[in-house]
Amino acid sequence: MTIVYIGLGSNLSNTLNGQAQSPLQHIITAIQSLAEIQSTRMISASSLYKSKPVGPQDQDDYINAVVQLETELEPLALLDSLQAIENEHDRVRKKHWGPRTLDLDILMFGDETIKNDRLSIPHVEMANRSFVLVPLAEINSSCSIPGKGLVSDLLLDIGQDGMVILQ
Ligand code: ADP
Ligand code: MG
Repeated sequence: MTIVYIGLGSNLSNTLNGQAQSPLQHIITAIQSLAEIQSTRMISASSLYKSKPVGPQDQDDYINAVVQLETELEPLALLDSLQAIENEHDRVRKKHWGPRTLDLDILMFGDETIKNDRLSIPHVEMANRSFVLVPLAEINSSCSIPGKGLVSDLLLDIGQDGMVILQ
């Protein structure tokens, strides 16, 4: 069993099965889907946050959250499950850091450091992103990122960056 942290983000609405899905709805249903991944159990989920986009500014605000899971899956099998959930939300990959209906990133996989064609763990940008660190600190205030240090220390450097808690 490995403890893993998943970062969720959405800033694009679409229509799924004839129903309009806002970014908030994408995140809520994605959290339910994460809890249903095979050989995996949900341990905790952060509050939902609204944050300003990183990169191109001509896009809507994001909804973000972080969840903690316990899994028996190998890293690539977990990534397959996350990408299957992204596809259920009709995620279309267009421009880098551009708008998306759902982004699911493996932030940490136990204390492992992984670098291959499909995975970089810990997630390369996580230590610089308040929309990752703020929800992560909420669910694990003493969390440490392999090679980067304590989340609480990293947050002192980058600050909360205008994130608003939703629920
Ligand atoms: P980003 O999240 O940086 O905006 P994408 O979601 O479009 O980018 O993902 C592009 C690729 O990133 C995926 O095909 C996946 O193989 C790769 N990737 C590398 N490391 C990770 C990780 N830790 N979690 C999820 N995807 C990752
Ligand atoms: Mg991603």
